Amino acid sequence: MTDLLAYNIGDRSGPLSRLLTEGALSMAYQPIVSLTGGSIHAHEALVRGPQGMPLQAPDALFSAARREGLVQDFEVACVALALRQWSQMQRAGRLFVNISASALVRCFDGKDAAELRAALLHHGIDPDRLVFEITEHEHVSDIPRLARVAEQVHATGARFALDDFGDGRSSLRLWSELAPDYVKIDKYFTADIARHAQRLKTLQALLHIAETFGSALVAEGIETADDLRVLRDLGLSFGQGYFLGRPARQPADAVDAPALAVVGSSRVAVLPSLRVA
Ligand code: C2E
Ligand code: MG
Ligand code: MG
Ligand code: MG
Repeated sequence: MTDLLAYNIGDRSGPLSRLLTEGALSMAYQPIVSLTGGSIHAHEALVRGPQGMPLQAPDALFSAARREGLVQDFEVACVALALRQWSQMQRAGRLFVNISASALVRCFDGKDAAELRAALLHHGIDPDRLVFEITEHEHVSDIPRLARVAEQVHATGARFALDDFGDGRSSLRLWSELAPDYVKIDKYFTADIARHAQRLKTLQALLHIAETFGSALVAEGIETADDLRVLRDLGLSFGQGYFLGRPARQPADAVDAPALAVVGSSRVAVLPSLRVA
């Protein structure tokens, strides 16, 4: 059977290769919350190194991966780890995993969709519950090829999301040609939204585009009750951020009560000064 999540660290030596061979990496899970009902829609898996060690945050891990020449293998290893842990935890809801466009292409391109589906099931996950977040660290040059891969992802039953939309690397061409299931709006546009009319207008425009292309919007970086209230009232479907739940080794079962009160409370008017005609 195809192992779509095969990776190879060869005989490389370096701190990250060692962590990989020792099985010392783990995942933290951050909830993605429905802003209409307040329930947990999914969790995003975020890689973590051993606690208390210098190689702990993804930034440090990816710098080491670059130095050791195994970025793509590291990415694939992260997906494999997330799927294994998630299936062992037997959690409900969807799982979002991060992967670059190039690594996704490497895993999926030229393979048979039925085989890919079988391979995902073999990794212990129902593909219908899996979402690949395309995390852009580089410019996507071959969009038609990525679009073919996106079709294959759908053919397995899985979904995909554009990550950090609006932060500089994302493009409207990717959005229109890939028709992603979800678009995650970068925290720049959601942070302190109540005091930034331009960001609010941008989000309103993005909501129109999302409706046109059939994508659900996820607001990232919700840090305060005010952020949450404004984003919910704007009509964003999903949200993620420290106010709703921090990344944790043990995925949350429910949204904290104060956050839930804001998600669940009745519609409140957006500040008049922010209202867009
Ligand atoms: P991302 O995929 O956009 O993940 C969101 C990042 O924002 C996470 O940082 C998360 O901890 C942080 N975050 C969540 N809520 C808030 C908030 O309310 N405020 C602020 N200021 N930050 C918030 P983290 O875990 O350090 O990950 C950073 C980036 O590293 C990720 O950005 C993703 O691009 C990459 N990454 C993380 N884990 C993986 C992985 O397993 N595989 C791959 N390929 N990339 C990963
Ligand atoms: Mg992400
Ligand atoms: Mg993101
Ligand atoms: Mg990010």
